[in-house]
Amino acid sequence: MLSYEELKKHDIFVNNRRDTSYGIYVGRGSVFGNPFVVGKDGTREEVIEKYRHWFWDKLKEDEIVSKEFFRLYELWRAHGNIALLCYCFPLACHSQVIGSALVWLRDSSKAEMPSQ
Ligand SMILES: [Zn+2]
Repeated sequence: MLSYEELKKHDIFVNNRRDTSYGIYVGRGSVFGNPFVVGKDGTREEVIEKYRHWFWDKLKEDEIVSKEFFRLYELWRAHGNIALLCYCFPLACHSQVIGSALVWLRDSSKAEMPSQ
């Protein structure tokens, strides 16, 4: 999973929603919200790891999550950058899983392009 610094290099920015409303909210209440809670379901690291599994399953099985993810992807590719909002930043959070998945999708679509 990419760090916030690494995501920035791909023009994927994560901001804290308390500081700005610029960006797409991916926290609880959105379709991307982490169903696992720090404390109740494990450490911060553990709930992010749980989310990573949950998220990849949802991308395969859940049309709402996958549609919204592809919408993020199209926005990022069309604008050249994207900002994700959560209440955790600068602490680690599931937004890194989403950002990393965007980078993964771009790199895997590149790989599928016919080489000239
Ligand atoms: Zn968060």
